[in-house]
Amino acid sequence: MSERTDQLVSQRGEMFYPPAAFAQKAHVSSMEQYRQMYRRSIEDPEGFWAEAAEGFFWSQKWSDVRRFNFKRSQGPIDVQWFAGGKTNVCYNCLDRHLATRADQPALIWEGNEPGEDQVLTYAQLHEQVCRFANVLRGLGVKKGDRVTIYLPMIVELAIAMLACARIGAIHSVVFGGFSAESLKDRIIDSQCRLLITSDGAFRGAKAVTLKLIADDALDSAAGEGWRVDKVVVARRVGEGKGVDCPMTAGRDLWWHELMEAAAPVCEAEWMDAEDPLFILYTSGSTGKPKGVLHTTGGYMVYTALTHRYVFDYHDGDVYWCTADIGWVTGHSYILYGPLLNGARSLMFEGVPTYPDSGRFWEVVDKWGVNIFYTAPTAIRAIMRMGDELVQKSDRGSLRLLGTVGEPINPEAWRWYNEVVGEGRCPIVDTWWQTETGGILITPLPGCTPTKPGSATLPFFGVEPALMDDEGKETSGNGVSGRLVIKAPWPGQLRTTYGNHERFETVYFSDFDGYYFTGDGARRDEDGYYWITGRVDDVINVSGHRMGTAEVESALVSHPAVAEAAVVGFPHEIKGQGIYAYVTLRLGHDYSDELARELIEHVRNQIGPIAAPDQIHWAPALPKTRSGKIMRRILRKMAAGETSFGDTSTLADPTVIGTLVEMKSK
Ligand code: ATP
Ligand code: MG
Repeated sequence: MSERTDQLVSQRGEMFYPPAAFAQKAHVSSMEQYRQMYRRSIEDPEGFWAEAAEGFFWSQKWSDVRRFNFKRSQGPIDVQWFAGGKTNVCYNCLDRHLATRADQPALIWEGNEPGEDQVLTYAQLHEQVCRFANVLRGLGVKKGDRVTIYLPMIVELAIAMLACARIGAIHSVVFGGFSAESLKDRIIDSQCRLLITSDGAFRGAKAVTLKLIADDALDSAAGEGWRVDKVVVARRVGEGKGVDCPMTAGRDLWWHELMEAAAPVCEAEWMDAEDPLFILYTSGSTGKPKGVLHTTGGYMVYTALTHRYVFDYHDGDVYWCTADIGWVTGHSYILYGPLLNGARSLMFEGVPTYPDSGRFWEVVDKWGVNIFYTAPTAIRAIMRMGDELVQKSDRGSLRLLGTVGEPINPEAWRWYNEVVGEGRCPIVDTWWQTETGGILITPLPGCTPTKPGSATLPFFGVEPALMDDEGKETSGNGVSGRLVIKAPWPGQLRTTYGNHERFETVYFSDFDGYYFTGDGARRDEDGYYWITGRVDDVINVSGHRMGTAEVESALVSHPAVAEAAVVGFPHEIKGQGIYAYVTLRLGHDYSDELARELIEHVRNQIGPIAAPDQIHWAPALPKTRSGKIMRRILRKMAAGETSFGDTSTLADPTVIGTLVEMKSK
């Protein structure tokens, strides 16, 4: 933040300051303190991160805090943190807390059906994890082996991941909503011999068969020459719900039977700091999924520290991240970050709209949630249903709100702030990626003045930069470009599984010496970062380049609009025209008049250059499992194509047919 803050407030009128009561108790309570800590983290990264790492248990201390080569021109890209150190992430999540918090809740599980819940204390979770770790060892799983986990949001998912970490097996969690084909691809790519799944899953009013999908995946994997030896099946749905669960003799085993027979004590395997912890395939918004590989020491330190500072986590807080664990947000901020800090982490099996769209706030009241972290897509979906369902809840326990996954439209931000947080909860808009392991650009809630739609400033140790068209780093503020990171941070991916070449090409070949994020961004006069969207999605209208976020936010700021997705399409005169898919709020109807009004609205908000050429009414938008809009499909549809590429990672593939139909109307 520059000294020009006051002037900017008057220019833009919209800065939100942390409430004094919040700031007083916060870990970082002034911008001066932030700046001082940030400066130290950049000038003395070794000192800064060593200090952070000292809070954990290491069976052997590291010899070097950091070693790296970030320049492809100087050899293979290589990043190591805490090299020579030995530790275990599961031990640090559980055993380390037993002396002081054995009887405190670790996981608070809220089931799909209201009234169905379960609390696991640190001692209970520890015992379950030890038992399952013994189960895995008994099935022949060794350090370095890959284990695929295909489960709904039930406690067995957390237990299985921690058990893998305990014995040094590499988990690869595949989102429970993925198809057989997506699962098969991930099983083959990770070359795993063991799969953990369940009979079925509850999602809202439906019971879904999971085991049948898993069987399909295994059959087709076998058809491609890859055989999985053992399948552990957790019972979630049971009989009588129409969910078939055939068991293949010699291969399939019931979770509960194995657990009964397993011993409750299991020594943790001491892992090198750079031994792999997990593989997670990115959601594939932009194409073929990549097996992002994270390692042990750096990931542990980074997720814990970001969780503590970004969510201003204090002992005793009830913390809820609504993500699915099949997404990196769930790995880092439901499981690892919170448990490393000894937190009470809420894990939610259901969906935000079941039994109705007030479910989030019911759960908040039920458990007294203090910190709530969700995605713009969920905020927009709930906002669309009106304020009543929110207002009828109390939400007095809430202290802090967070968002992640996409640029949040300022309109949705304001609604989140005013209606959900009643103006008393700071909002942290956290920018990061599967690849980054943890949050990189974010406000710190006790000090950073926020602006709706901006992820604001870098976290400790993170050096973002914006590259111009010539591939040079831009300097000063009031600039935009491609977002890169200049130096390693502990939580970053080390490679893409089984393909280091691909890792180097995707992330390190565009700009030598920089990690390229694939996103575009603007740095405003205050040095605040605004993510403008993926650079692949940039639209070029008559030589003017535009990020998708700005146009979408302008549309969402119209009272009739709930959500919008904007893409470019071939245009004879302008090169590219702007094509906007628009979902309306409840109580508004499609009409040509409204379409004209929306176009006019964008013209007034941004300027004539941004005015959409086409409005396409969208009852729903194609989204990934993590709720991100898949613009690559929308781009094809806008161009008049009829085949849309890989749609297997869509949350709801039927959306596409509906959209095609709407187009022809
Ligand atoms: P793939 O890389 O396979 O296409 P993906 O990028 O959708 O998948 P993620 O790693 O889950 O998978 O998403 C990271 C991306 O999400 C970021 O690069 C950015 O585009 C977007 N994003 C996440 N958080 C924010 C945020 N707070 N503001 C703006 N954009 C965000
Ligand atoms: Mg990505």
